[in-house]
Amino acid sequence: MEVSGRRYQSLRESMVKNQMESRGIRDPKVLEAFKKVPRHEFVNESLIDQAYSDHPLPIGDQQTISQPYIVALMTEALQIDSDDRVLEIGTGSGYQAAILAELAYRVYTVERNRTLYEKARKTIEKLGYYNIICRYGDGTLGWKEEAPFDAIMVTAGAPEIPGPLVDQLSIGGRMVIPVGSTSSQMMIKLYRDEQGVHETELGGCRFVKLIGQRGWKAD
Ligand code: SAH
Repeated sequence: MEVSGRRYQSLRESMVKNQMESRGIRDPKVLEAFKKVPRHEFVNESLIDQAYSDHPLPIGDQQTISQPYIVALMTEALQIDSDDRVLEIGTGSGYQAAILAELAYRVYTVERNRTLYEKARKTIEKLGYYNIICRYGDGTLGWKEEAPFDAIMVTAGAPEIPGPLVDQLSIGGRMVIPVGSTSSQMMIKLYRDEQGVHETELGGCRFVKLIGQRGWKAD
């Protein structure tokens, strides 16, 4: 490995130790995925030095790539199995999709912003994540043709849980979604079984708006 590659590897090791393990992320497969995915490839050149820092980063068009710990918390909550098909709403930089792709069989990811969609697709292709399928469109409606999904992750804040996403969750399926106002949300985990849908709260958070037919209206 070249010098810079080794440097990023060691930055990832400390990110996992100091930001994830120390705060209770335990799933070894999840931790392994974070040691592997080159987060610095998903941010703009000018922010590369901060790629592994303990905070969110701007990715353009007023959108952000979440703080590493939040990505880890949401990923662990989904309890992904290697043959799972996962839907992500809000591709953004593509980083979360890449983490999911390390754990799942296939990842379907939807982005409503054309510029971010094009850019993320290029990064994903460059890094060789052939099990990620990108789509440009309104993710609040899900991805009907590919449903049902074993797991769904929404990475933008919703006013309420979009009905189509619940409908597209398989029996035994899990979903994580931040729900609340535009300034603060509660991270909700949903579990669907034969009886219906069960919700638990994972903690407060702050995400950019989920905009669409079953989300917030565009400005
Ligand atoms: N998961 C991303 C970060 C997401 S930021 C990452 O790892 O980098 C939230 C993203 O959700 C933004 O890119 C925003 O454009 C997108 N978004 C908002 N509403 C959406 C919708 N209805 N469908 C798809 N994407 C949406």
